Amino acid sequence: MTDTYLKLVNAKPFSQFAKTAGLPRPVPLRRHAPGAPLVPGPVLVLGRSPGTQTVATTLLGWDLDVRRHLRPKEKLGAVVVVLDDVADPAQLAGLFLEVGSVVRQLLPGGRIVTISRPAAGSTEPRVASARNAVEGALRSLAKELRAGATANGVLLDADVDVEAPSVGATLEFLLSGKSAYVDGQFVTVETSDGAAHHQRSDAPLAGRTAVVTGAARGIGAEIAKVLRRDGAQIIAVDVPAAGEHLALVANEVGGTALQVDVTAPDAAERILNHAATRYGRLDIMVHNAGITRDRLLANMDPARWNSVMAVNLESQLRINEKLLAADGFSADGSIVCLASTSGIAGNRGQTNYAASKAGVMGMVRSTANSLAGSGRTINAVAPGFIETDMTAKIPFATREVARRLSSLQQGGLPLDVAEAVSFLASPGASGISGQVLRVCGQNLVGA
Ligand code: NAD
Repeated sequence: MTDTYLKLVNAKPFSQFAKTAGLPRPVPLRRHAPGAPLVPGPVLVLGRSPGTQTVATTLLGWDLDVRRHLRPKEKLGAVVVVLDDVADPAQLAGLFLEVGSVVRQLLPGGRIVTISRPAAGSTEPRVASARNAVEGALRSLAKELRAGATANGVLLDADVDVEAPSVGATLEFLLSGKSAYVDGQFVTVETSDGAAHHQRSDAPLAGRTAVVTGAARGIGAEIAKVLRRDGAQIIAVDVPAAGEHLALVANEVGGTALQVDVTAPDAAERILNHAATRYGRLDIMVHNAGITRDRLLANMDPARWNSVMAVNLESQLRINEKLLAADGFSADGSIVCLASTSGIAGNRGQTNYAASKAGVMGMVRSTANSLAGSGRTINAVAPGFIETDMTAKIPFATREVARRLSSLQQGGLPLDVAEAVSFLASPGASGISGQVLRVCGQNLVGA
């Protein structure tokens, strides 16, 4: 689906009318392009902790134009705020007001990224309140930014410091155009696992083999393309009925097509056999296949409820169980599951779908606990409104409301979801597990 209003509002004379009338004015987002700079201008690093200089040094090592103090009227590509040692709410005013004083100098598509610690990591009420206060302030700031700028945070668990590999990788993702539709979100780094993070590898997934289910179209097809762009070999999976499109996608990414219904009892075996025969092993499993069968609960029939649960949740549970017990799945393999913001906030007409997606998030958290220390990771991506065939089915007025009611005032693209999946599947994210990363432009309704 194309967003006609987005095009209209960025062209004269409608742009002027929209401004005067106070209509939403979404802008084309800054997305990743090969060779493009990581950020559109200088990066200001603010903070009082020793970690602040470490972060500044890391960014300098990436050849960014780094500032510790702002020059008057200078435009900024990003502001990174290091709050890893915040222990008292009173410490926040100085830094947040400093951020406020430079917000107007942020370039279109600019980024604000905080680095702090999760409240749950402290039993001290004062410390926990200060840490949670960071999250409240940042989520609100994200709603205040304009022109495609976003604000997100990295949370460091107790034993993790700013030098941990996944902190660098997450910072890079959040600063880049790859996180264009991630807004008002926090990514927790749980461990210091992983090799030292070197910025901007063009092929972070080189040598890895990835399965993408539901790859014949929409988000799945885009995930296959982005994982290939990032170096992975692709096994594209979809139902036999989608075989023709599946073959096109597999050809485009130089991978192989595997016609499997993910609800089949032998789906895991067939996937593992195919990976072993063609590529030796499987490193990345992306559970993307999903369906909607919307009805108000009062009108719900068993077929709608059961089919949605079978495709969206049961298949993932069954395949993961077999995958994690199999030698053919790498010791450092990663699983990425597609959830949905419907599973967080709920959605009218989607009790079955929201149950399945909330179920996926429960599975991810529980499985991550059992995988802790194993070298394997599991995470979920929860898209909001994404422009696909699935959302094209939504009635016009509802679709228009869903698009505009996010901080970025537009729907996301399949590419935005695919970038998040590729990040979570990359070696840089090996310290991240059990997370649900929302790619929703910070939906204003619901969660
Ligand atoms: P889509 O309907 O465009 O594509 C889904 C693909 O999955 C299709 O190719 C379909 O053939 C395949 N599929 C369905 N059942 C299957 C089965 N049993 N076995 C194998 N393949 C099967 O959907 P999409 O919009 O690209 O969504 C992809 C994923 O993202 C889904 O899990 C969906 O729930 C999730 N999601 C989408 C949005 C959105 O706005 N589009 C929002 C939140 C979450």
